[in-house]
Amino acid sequence: MPITTEFEYVKPRDMDEALHVFSLYREKARALAGGTDLVVHLKENLARPEVVVDIKALEELAGFTLKGDVMHIGALVTFADLIDSPLVKAKFPLLWEASLTVASVGVRNRATVAGNICSAVPSADSAPVLAVYDAEVLTRSIRGERRVAIAEWFAGPKKTVLAPDEIVTAVEMKLPAKKHAGCYMKLSRYEGEDLAQGGIAALAFADNTYRLAVCALGPKPARCPKTEAVLNGNKLSDKLVARAKETILQEVSPISDIRSSREYRLHMTQVMLGRVLEKAVARLFGKGPKYGTENIA
Ligand SMILES: Cc1cc2nc3c(=O)[nH]c(=O)nc-3n(C[C@H](O)[C@H](O)[C@H](O)COP(=O)(O)OP(=O)(O)OC[C@H]3O[C@@H](n4cnc5c(N)ncnc54)[C@H](O)[C@@H]3O)c2cc1C
Repeated sequence: MPITTEFEYVKPRDMDEALHVFSLYREKARALAGGTDLVVHLKENLARPEVVVDIKALEELAGFTLKGDVMHIGALVTFADLIDSPLVKAKFPLLWEASLTVASVGVRNRATVAGNICSAVPSADSAPVLAVYDAEVLTRSIRGERRVAIAEWFAGPKKTVLAPDEIVTAVEMKLPAKKHAGCYMKLSRYEGEDLAQGGIAALAFADNTYRLAVCALGPKPARCPKTEAVLNGNKLSDKLVARAKETILQEVSPISDIRSSREYRLHMTQVMLGRVLEKAVARLFGKGPKYGTENIA
């Protein structure tokens, strides 16, 4: 399908130039990173920007680094970059695991984490993982820089708190000090290139505390504080998991759509919760499946 919408294409050489364009055009400008969402939206006339700002030449947005216990993921880092990184696999295996569930190799070679959270579809696979690590989104405009907690980032389906003159420069995640292990599980109609019908990320800590977050089970990806409260301070047991499964139903509000019915999503939320908790805790004790396996429900 060709792109029939007309727009100006600019490729700024540095950040000042890029931010100047965004301050001038605001809502009429759209950043182009990997283009895996934007190009589809242009083709389908869902996006009609006056200016498409290709940000791929902005060096400040490239690469990721681990400084101390903080992983800085530049806005041009793709899911393939994360998957190829032994550092990410060793230090943030949950992010590595979730990255493997995004689309296909071809899409992952272009799709950025920043683009994923800027598109802000409820099914964004990176979002639950960023949520359990309490990630921060770094933004910049000619007015200055901001840090937005991921919990505050999503404003609704396909909506974020990004201002019209801002771009995302990076996402940062802190490595928890306590011993921990995680699991991301994605429910999809088939293994391969499918958006999540639902997804759950869990982090389990050695002191019997837990962090949980979901995607595609409500209008925006979100943590599950009530379910975490039920679990916290307790060793995992069948009885505890049963209580958590009851509680999580108060925290999700899935819709029926082309991918599945609300009822199926509710049922599978409970099934997936049991599985992510069990696997995360098993991994904590050096057991359980290897990261990147058995993560499609
Ligand atoms: C076939 C297919 C399968 C897919 N499967 C999955 C899947 O399984 N899971 C999943 O989560 N997603 C999936 N996606 C969605 C998509 O690949 C991701 O959302 C991707 O991460 C978007 O990143 P991008 O770099 O391509 O963003 P782009 O398409 O370049 O941009 C997306 C949006 O974010 C904005 N944007 C991008 N970067 C910035 C920035 N730095 N600052 C401000 N705004 C910015 C753009 O203006 C645009 O509005 C799929 C897409 C396709 C086409």
